[in-house]
Amino acid sequence: MITIDEALQLVHAQPVSVLKTTVPVDQSVGHWLTEDIVSPLELPPFDNSAMDGYALCGLYSEYQIIGEVAAGDTSNKKLTDGKAMRIFTGGKVPENTTAVVMQEKTEVNGGSLTIVGELKENQNIRRKGGELSLNQDVFSTGKYINPATAGLIASLGKDMVIVGQKPTISLISTGNELVKPGTTLQEGQIYESNSIAIDSALQRYGFACAEKEHVLDDYESTKQAISKHLESVDILLLSGGISVGDYDFVKKALEEIGVKQVFYKVAQKPGKPLYFGKKGQQYVFALPGNPASSITCFHIYVLPLLQRMSGANETGLQRVASKLAQGFELKGDRPAFLKAKLDYSEVTILDGQGSSMIHSLANANALAFLQPGQYQKGDVVKCIVL
Ligand code: AMP
Ligand code: MG
Repeated sequence: MITIDEALQLVHAQPVSVLKTTVPVDQSVGHWLTEDIVSPLELPPFDNSAMDGYALCGLYSEYQIIGEVAAGDTSNKKLTDGKAMRIFTGGKVPENTTAVVMQEKTEVNGGSLTIVGELKENQNIRRKGGELSLNQDVFSTGKYINPATAGLIASLGKDMVIVGQKPTISLISTGNELVKPGTTLQEGQIYESNSIAIDSALQRYGFACAEKEHVLDDYESTKQAISKHLESVDILLLSGGISVGDYDFVKKALEEIGVKQVFYKVAQKPGKPLYFGKKGQQYVFALPGNPASSITCFHIYVLPLLQRMSGANETGLQRVASKLAQGFELKGDRPAFLKAKLDYSEVTILDGQGSSMIHSLANANALAFLQPGQYQKGDVVKCIVL
């Protein structure tokens, strides 16, 4: 059995080759850049007004209004001393503008403009290049494209962007007791839910499951399914059948197929019987069957690898420190990822921590990471934000 840190390092140490693909910038959110973005222009590209108001030449209390600039007006307008022009937000400021005054601080009488209050040179002017200069490094390869990233790339005039291709993923669930939701349960059976939860987690984090398959606890069928999926996927996920029961065939089948074990069993709760292996450049996670274990292991171990395979230079979920809302004792000798509810001031460990229980996980927005021992209310603990 290895520690959580050792397991994470082993996952992180695996080489990945990131394939590139070009996507329209409006489809790029949730991808990672595989090109460096350098600004091909100054941003903003021209001096423009930050307000609806008046562009002024010189600093006085009265001006003569000589015209108007609307946003998008491309003509070259010019002011002379003591003159003003009506201007709107985003409008190109006329040549010789000293300041823009917001319209709320003016009074207009026919063609003359009176300033109410103080004026300052340069006020309310967004200067050319004030945000980005020409040839400035904007983003580097590996950057996650969030909505603002996509917006900024678009504002540099790019309509296509080069990103990492997402890995191809398959999911095999194992278990004789499992039946599809929507069908009738016999005594002794339960509904298969791990593939739904893992597929949902994949979707939520911007990945797709190419194929899902359920196999019975049978060595030959398990082997066949694994072999078939390994013909096409970059990463294969399995659920269940990886523990030490007489009907747990996944590990043996993986060995037989030539998948090399990187690690098996991690000192953690939940998710001790976690398996990670590789075959060439393909990776295999056999996730424990218990629902909370499989989802937790997905978030902690699988997601960072998927992100790295997609070109990410920063992986994993956000981590924060928070004060415990209650005293808590973590029994046993394994550190735990506990289903928890995090708010702005504290974190509450939820009831229902069993590794088979997901109702508490459904109500959680974080996993509190605790070492074995006794904790007091107010103790600061690490939390992983879900
Ligand atoms: P296993 O690791 O196969 O021994 O499974 C451990 C526990 O998780 C058993 O109680 C299984 O019934 C349950 N389990 C395994 N796979 C699933 C699944 N896909 N959906 C729901 N429960 C599962
Ligand atoms: Mg099983």
